[in-house]
Amino acid sequence: MSRLVVVSNRTGDPRNPAAGGLAVAVGESLRQTGGLWFGWSGKIQDEHGDEKAHYDDVHAQTVGDVQLVTLDLSRRDYETYYLGYANSVLWPVFHYRLDLADFDIRFVAGYRRVNELFARKLLPLLRSDDLIWVHDYHLIPLAAALRALGCGNRIGFFLHIPMPPPLIMAAIPEHEWLMKSLFAYDLVGLQSESDVTHFCHYVESEAHAERLSRERLRAFNRTLRVGAYPIGIDIDEFVRLAEAKDGRDMFLRMREEYSRRRLLLGVDRLDYSKGLPQRVEAFRELLARYPENRNRATLIQIASPSREKVGAYDDLRRQMDSLCGAINGDYGELDWMPVRYIHRNVARKRLPGLYRASRVALVTPLRDGMNLVAKEFIAAQDPADPGMLVLSRFAGAAEQLKEALLVNPYDIEGTAQAIERALTMSADERIQRHDALLSRIRKHDVHWWCSTFLQALKHVEQDVACGPTPHHEGL
Ligand code: UDP
Repeated sequence: MSRLVVVSNRTGDPRNPAAGGLAVAVGESLRQTGGLWFGWSGKIQDEHGDEKAHYDDVHAQTVGDVQLVTLDLSRRDYETYYLGYANSVLWPVFHYRLDLADFDIRFVAGYRRVNELFARKLLPLLRSDDLIWVHDYHLIPLAAALRALGCGNRIGFFLHIPMPPPLIMAAIPEHEWLMKSLFAYDLVGLQSESDVTHFCHYVESEAHAERLSRERLRAFNRTLRVGAYPIGIDIDEFVRLAEAKDGRDMFLRMREEYSRRRLLLGVDRLDYSKGLPQRVEAFRELLARYPENRNRATLIQIASPSREKVGAYDDLRRQMDSLCGAINGDYGELDWMPVRYIHRNVARKRLPGLYRASRVALVTPLRDGMNLVAKEFIAAQDPADPGMLVLSRFAGAAEQLKEALLVNPYDIEGTAQAIERALTMSADERIQRHDALLSRIRKHDVHWWCSTFLQALKHVEQDVACGPTPHHEGL
């Protein structure tokens, strides 16, 4: 059986369930075949004379049957590759926020440099029959960099964030190079069918790709398989967390605290893709239009700190502080605050209890690759009296979770109406919808995602012989 090699910007602890479903699933696959997980250590080294020679050394550690290999980044690489190209170009553009992108020419050079560094450091660790699985937008050109060094292994790529439509992609100054480099992979996995459609339209219109079949494309002298592999959660792990002491304590505390209230919940990173200001506006509209919710409905919004070194995130923080302050000032009573806004991370083990105590979850991103909170909320509900999910049609999860109340988050009034509908929905209808949602997320859980992708990668027809192909030169 081939060994699995996973490459991602950051590595995780494959034995620690607190790390979340993805780390657990990837860890499980790594353990099945014995495996290697390669990525950035999270450490930044300042370059001072002699120390420069050491900052790109790798650190190796064995965790069970898994070898974790990491490297540090120089400050310049951290600023240009991570803060710069990955999080100030690719993240905003792939989430349709061209207005927030910073196309600084130094960023793309850093992005290439780090991908080449990853390739150079990974190559000596590879065996010829290793199966390589590269994750996410930080590492799009990694396969091309590996091929340029002679790597002929099967390499798959999974993009966790959305694939934008062709004209949005075309706003990136280096878009041709970026998309061409995807053809060095054998298999590209995307979150949803609409992502696959966007990708196919891009390569057909910009690179005259030939569609060999529904999932096979030929361009740049290479054949690539592309497909939708919607990521799921580890339902069993989540149920265990809900039944564990922390989960139960949280549920009982919240149920008691909010016994006279209707509890609404949002759980997100504080990110401009999540539609947080629009969500708070919709809640305000709910209080204005449906006054029976005053002194009754409370929105708990957890917004865990994220990428605070990127400027756009600072502006969002100020906007949220001011919106939540205004709504509490306008509507709050001595014994009721409409919004509880928490700008801190809440431990994963406490979330199931919080989800279960809530009548409605608001998952209303302006754009999201998938959104796992939506699936976690469904998994945590009491099937006999489930809460209702209000879900943005622009989250990847909306393709699967059709029985949620789907909303357009830009439409504040429409979202407020959907929240009211969720709050007043009959138990029968909630149970029916929850039943359908739960069976779908159970069928397509994180283990299904992992094994389906890896099976497809193992069996994909490879059309490249070992060694570099001409179009990869000059990456
Ligand atoms: N999460 C958490 N604590 C928090 C906020 C979020 O553990 O305070 C977890 C949440 O349970 C989910 C993940 O972070 O598993 C967020 O994933 P999602 O796909 O919803 O959004 P992303 O942050 O990846 O854009």
